[in-house]
Amino acid sequence: MVRNIIKVRNLKVSYGDRTVLDSVNISVKDGEIYTILGKSGSGKTTLMRSILMLEKSTGIIEVMGVDLNKANNDDKDLIKKSYGVMFQAASLFTSLTVGENVAVPLKEGANIDNNIIFDIVRFKLSLVGLDENVFNLYPYELSGGMRKKAALARALVLDPKIIFLDEPTSGLDPVSADDFDKTISELNKLLGITVVMITHDLDSFFGISNRACVIRDKKVLAEGTPYDIMHQDDKWLKNLFFGNRGRKFTQWNQR
Ligand code: ADP
Repeated sequence: MVRNIIKVRNLKVSYGDRTVLDSVNISVKDGEIYTILGKSGSGKTTLMRSILMLEKSTGIIEVMGVDLNKANNDDKDLIKKSYGVMFQAASLFTSLTVGENVAVPLKEGANIDNNIIFDIVRFKLSLVGLDENVFNLYPYELSGGMRKKAALARALVLDPKIIFLDEPTSGLDPVSADDFDKTISELNKLLGITVVMITHDLDSFFGISNRACVIRDKKVLAEGTPYDIMHQDDKWLKNLFFGNRGRKFTQWNQR
């Protein structure tokens, strides 16, 4: 049986006296691609940031069996080391080359020999489909899709068990977005990395997600496969899938 790598129970997060998430329950299985859906401002990023230990919360957030709200700092550090994170803006350092950017997490940790660092960086770049000559380019010299891939390579550099992606395909043209999805799916299959991603991109949702949750009114409206989610009797979801922007829905439903 596939175990839950992340289990969230009764999660509550407030900013000041405003509660943003209340009684949230989700389960992410080991090795799956899990999507967090919901309107803008519904609390998707807050949920992800809580799992990343960047927000104060109450309730249970269990990652690989460790309850983060009760864990000591050593256990929390171990869990943090198993995370790779790519935020929306891809946020590469503009004054560093791609290779130097990808190497940053390696240099922050142990004292590793430069030759080994560069070998690891080259390997990670090749894993996301970027070739050798990208190593010495600066972020401004890359296309949007390549920048996202470089940020993904950096998220992968410490061999994470789980990667967190916040709207990874936003701002990309459809071809680059499909290419990025393909890369995520290949990494997930090849390395068994669990992927947790926030997306508004229905092509990604139907194309590569195994399961998903929908955040609504501070809670989880639904959790399940894309098929389960699509068949929820909910006005916002129906509008999302059946409205003008529900591009792949029709093709997917005919499979
Ligand atoms: P989403 O990712 O679904 O767009 P967020 O999790 O970013 O939603 O935000 C959920 C709600 O919490 C929004 O109303 C947002 O304005 C509010 N919020 C997010 N971060 C903060 C913060 N640091 N301080 C106060 N309010 C915040």
